[in-house]
Amino acid sequence: MPRRHAGCHCPARNGRRASRERTAHCPPSGGTIRGMDLYFLGAATTVTGSQFLLETGQARILVDCGMFQGGPNESVRNRIPLAYDPATLDAILLTHAHLDHCGLIPHVVREGFRGPIRATAGTIELARLVLLDSGRLQEEFSKREDRWERRHPDRAEADDAKEHAALEAAIELAEAGEQGTAPTAAAASFAARSHETVDDAPTSTLAAPAPAAPGTIRHAQEAAHAEGVHVATSIQPVGGRGRPDPEADLRAAGAELQPDLDAPLYTERDAVESLRGFRPVRYGVEEEVAPGIHATYLDAGHILGSAIIRLRVQDVPGGPERILVFSGDLGRTGAPIIADPTLLGDADYVLCESTYGGREHEPTAEAHRILADTVRLVAEHDGVLLVPSFAIGRTQELVWELDRLVSAGEIPALPLYLDSPMASKASDIYRRHAEYYDAETRALFESGDTPLDYPKQVVVADMAQSTAIAKARRPYMIVASNGMLTGGRVVGHLRNLIDDPAATILFVGYQGEGTLGRHLQEGAKTVRLDGQVRDVRCRIASISGFSAHADEPGLLAWLAGFTHGKRAGDPGFPRRVFLVHGDPGPQAELAPKVAALGLDVHVPRWHEAVTLD
Ligand SMILES: [Zn+2]
Repeated sequence: MPRRHAGCHCPARNGRRASRERTAHCPPSGGTIRGMDLYFLGAATTVTGSQFLLETGQARILVDCGMFQGGPNESVRNRIPLAYDPATLDAILLTHAHLDHCGLIPHVVREGFRGPIRATAGTIELARLVLLDSGRLQEEFSKREDRWERRHPDRAEADDAKEHAALEAAIELAEAGEQGTAPTAAAASFAARSHETVDDAPTSTLAAPAPAAPGTIRHAQEAAHAEGVHVATSIQPVGGRGRPDPEADLRAAGAELQPDLDAPLYTERDAVESLRGFRPVRYGVEEEVAPGIHATYLDAGHILGSAIIRLRVQDVPGGPERILVFSGDLGRTGAPIIADPTLLGDADYVLCESTYGGREHEPTAEAHRILADTVRLVAEHDGVLLVPSFAIGRTQELVWELDRLVSAGEIPALPLYLDSPMASKASDIYRRHAEYYDAETRALFESGDTPLDYPKQVVVADMAQSTAIAKARRPYMIVASNGMLTGGRVVGHLRNLIDDPAATILFVGYQGEGTLGRHLQEGAKTVRLDGQVRDVRCRIASISGFSAHADEPGLLAWLAGFTHGKRAGDPGFPRRVFLVHGDPGPQAELAPKVAALGLDVHVPRWHEAVTLD
């Protein structure tokens, strides 16, 4: 097992280190070179909050700085004190623009980080969209919460107490992770409940909210698939509250920390401010990002600009060099628009995402067949096709697929309403970055085709237009955010179509447990919408083959690339693979299969630190 620094819990949760030099804080035993330290500050046994701190004898960097977006007991993790002093970080390296990878950057900048944030140009543009939206939504949420508390002072007090208890439990859990000890019963209980469905609390002030708005939570929730996260099983008016926790008063009484959990974690202005630190990097070009750390960004095939990050690291000047590979979110080989994930051959340590452990996507041809059949059926019945879709990545790929099917004469060119402002902005960014396209998409553009646009698309600008779609002449199609029916404009369309036998709802992404989307997908005959029971009379269809993530065979094939022609102990054969960005179940399924490749596999706990020799 990797060793922690005996007797030192760095980075302590209030760990304002006086100095960057490790010796000032935590001297290596016997004065020998101890190796660098890696801290798993997020995406450890969960699929959100990606954040890894690498600390060498001469530098300290973060890889990703994402927001937790699970249930309230998980998203409260955004509120615990930072595990490091941001002013001492040399750089933040960002794999891609989804909120659960970049969403804490404005917070960390506000807390004192002044270094560069390195990302591809595509990621920078998308992150701008995502972060400004996140800041704005947090401010709106905070105001809504204030209004609610003023109207319900009695319940507000109990609610605050519950939130502080959750925060305290999260802090305890982080400390247990740092120290390698078992968490207290209360913290463990909270951690376990972070994966539960919260069916009567559509929002939480704890969350620095993982806003249920178009697009911003695309990945977290889509990828939250196995997670059983948070979202209400019914769409309810804002103001529904969680059940009172009988232990809340007791625990809250003992809490020393009383931050204002209703305040935005950061504002839109903070988000704007944080953008100043972004610095573009190019795929495949190695650069020194901090003393002794050289980084290369490689195609991850997940969304536009997404990257695998390969680090060449020297713990101390003149010391041995180690290769660390961070997979980021790995895309599907053969997915449209962007290039496929890069296969690497050598590494000393690999952090590999594990979202789809134990799962296999249907073949692409089958996905195309289902999509074409569904559109034809809708056309034949003068119906409506509603596709809930996350704004960044998925919507662009879906439009691409529909455009291809029309071009091939496989489906009639029904009108297509694109009803997501964020998706439209993201599509503009996709159009501007032809340098990221794969050969197929590039060839289409060169031949005068416009595969990012559908011939009969209508980009919906505002709510009035969105509402007016219901009066349009059938048949037609709507793509609207968000992808799991947990919020956004798609909900308005669902209200109109849920009991319409001529309508079809087509799911193209994973539906998290406990979400309305999952209930429909599993054949619910009735659902609650706006507090009312509604019959489900529309048709429900699903396609899993358009995922933005590699499935288990894809993950294993990518990891196998590190082993080819080598045996354990050979140079370039990974000393250890860390499974991150996955829920416990998928990780448990994937780990033995990784071990079967001959790799030493470890699933780190939240806030675990390991020393890399
Ligand atoms: Zn992602």
